Amino acid sequence: MYSIKDTNFAGRKVLLRVDFNVPTDDQGRITDDTRMRESLPTLQKLLADGAAVIIMAHFGRPKKGGFEPELTLAPVAKHLERLIGRPVAFTQELLGDKVRQMAAGLKGGEAMLLENIRFYPGETKGDVALAEQLSKLGDCYVNDAFGAAHREHSSTAVIARFFPKDKYFGFLMEHEVKNLERLMHDAPRPFTAIIGGSKVSSKIGILENLMDKVDNMIIIGGMRYTFTKAMGGHIGKSICEDDKMPLALDLMRRMEQKGVRYYLPTDSVVADAFSNEAHTQVVPSDQVPDGWESMDCGPDSVRAISDIIRQSKAILWNGPAGVFEMPAFARGTHEIAKAVAEACKDGACAAVGGGDSVAAVKQMGLADQMSYVSTGGGAMLEYLEGKTLPGIAAIKD
Ligand code: ADP
Ligand code: MG
Repeated sequence: MYSIKDTNFAGRKVLLRVDFNVPTDDQGRITDDTRMRESLPTLQKLLADGAAVIIMAHFGRPKKGGFEPELTLAPVAKHLERLIGRPVAFTQELLGDKVRQMAAGLKGGEAMLLENIRFYPGETKGDVALAEQLSKLGDCYVNDAFGAAHREHSSTAVIARFFPKDKYFGFLMEHEVKNLERLMHDAPRPFTAIIGGSKVSSKIGILENLMDKVDNMIIIGGMRYTFTKAMGGHIGKSICEDDKMPLALDLMRRMEQKGVRYYLPTDSVVADAFSNEAHTQVVPSDQVPDGWESMDCGPDSVRAISDIIRQSKAILWNGPAGVFEMPAFARGTHEIAKAVAEACKDGACAAVGGGDSVAAVKQMGLADQMSYVSTGGGAMLEYLEGKTLPGIAAIKD
């Protein structure tokens, strides 16, 4: 019912929301079109059915309210033509007679891209009048913009109320929602979460929500030093949020009460500077010498973490184990990625999410070996915090 799979859209005028917010260089050239390619199956299915497809997308963060030449979707429209091998109607004019005429004249199998939807000041406010005007361009709504699903904007959520019986998830959204729902409500056991990254403060909601769901919690990355210092360990100048130490103790106490087994790495790769060329040594994680800082987890920890991963049937990973951007400190993250990939080969179900974690897994060439790599950074993290995502709720309501 929410899926486009079983519906034939022949003769329909579909409003399709996608996430085409691609990175560009200073000349405005697209440097990575992954996000566009991820929604192609949805677009191609609609066009192949014989639908006329009016695509809505945002680009960057317009501030002025109205057209801004450097944030036009014109290059995206051109690139989309190459990807789908057919013309894409496009105008830089905003919603008005011209856009309405173009949309009305669009025939089955034809696509049109609206100019950057965030040029309308109402979009990010979830303006109902804007949503209504947009809704009049088509006769049904398909949302495939998982990357924007945590936003209650006119084109990502509010517009759905004008299509109470004609609103759908695109293939990308459906894939994300299915995988996340399975993991959060019906995960095979044992279920292990691996949570890392630089700051505890950005992962509190995730730790709190997941401790009710998992059997094992592995806490890695820079954020684990707040836990270690809170327990009285020496962390040198490793990254730490002193004001979060009481919270760290509380989180550990609550995990114990709930019977969640938590694991903190026992050894660390430390450096005498935050640099790829720094001197390094491996030390117990709670005995970092003064003047040194932790950059990665050590070999004993990698082995212990890999063992836990190997025994798990469901794995959720968010947050790198070390400063993986520097090759000298990428090993922990790399080894964990390999262990997760191995577990997937043995039938475990593993999800990887978060902007940096996904970048790490891709950089290591292991993304295709994971059962599921989320395309939505912020959206996935909010889902893991247990929040309702407006873009999902709007289709399901
Ligand atoms: P994600 O985007 O996957 O949610 P985060 O943004 O939470 O991940 O964390 C990623 C960052 O954490 C990376 O830039 C990485 O360099 C940093 N990081 C990991 N381990 C450490 C550490 N020991 N010290 C400092 N920073 C770290
Ligand atoms: Mg990040």
